[in-house]
Amino acid sequence: MGNSLLDEECDYLFKMVLVGDSAVGKSNLLSRFAKDEFHLDSKPTIGVEFAYRNIKVGDKLAKAQIWDTAGQERFRAITSSYYRGALGAMLVYDITRRGTFKNLKKWLHELREYGNRDMVIVLIGNKSDLVESREVEAEEGQSLAQLEDLCFLETSAKENLNVEDAFLQMITKIFEIASQKSL
Ligand code: GDP
Repeated sequence: MGNSLLDEECDYLFKMVLVGDSAVGKSNLLSRFAKDEFHLDSKPTIGVEFAYRNIKVGDKLAKAQIWDTAGQERFRAITSSYYRGALGAMLVYDITRRGTFKNLKKWLHELREYGNRDMVIVLIGNKSDLVESREVEAEEGQSLAQLEDLCFLETSAKENLNVEDAFLQMITKIFEIASQKSL
């Protein structure tokens, strides 16, 4: 298969990336999905990090290799190598900060410029638990997703709402696309 590597214990290895403004919850979404953990004040070191998780899709075992910017977006220091070979991207904003929603256009531009042509993009409105501080309505996320042909979900890494679903939707879609191209 074009962009995946064969791994010893699994059928396919997929690279996926997390993108979005600083502090929208990318690291916590990843640690929730990969390790079922949540951190109140994360951000250990600066630099790209990634985590793995094995997922069963049908009768195949896929290993997701999910990359996190680990703070580099603060310095606008994400380079094209971050996106290279990624079959999926989770584009994250914070529903309590409109600015992070406005910046999605910039992130989409970057994803389309550097990313794989059939990269699956899932739009994530994170921090859905913070109902009282909401600045972006779910309908706005939904309309943008429709317009840009993306999947959309609101999540809470804190309360562990929809996190598993978001990753699974992306992985299932990646897998569908990959299996259509004769492997
Ligand atoms: P990143 O910079 O995008 O990787 O964001 P982090 O994962 O480091 O999260 C930034 C801050 O938002 C941290 O203080 C987290 O505890 C908090 N946070 C992340 N996700 C959620 C969430 O779903 N709900 C709430 N209430 N806080 C969250």
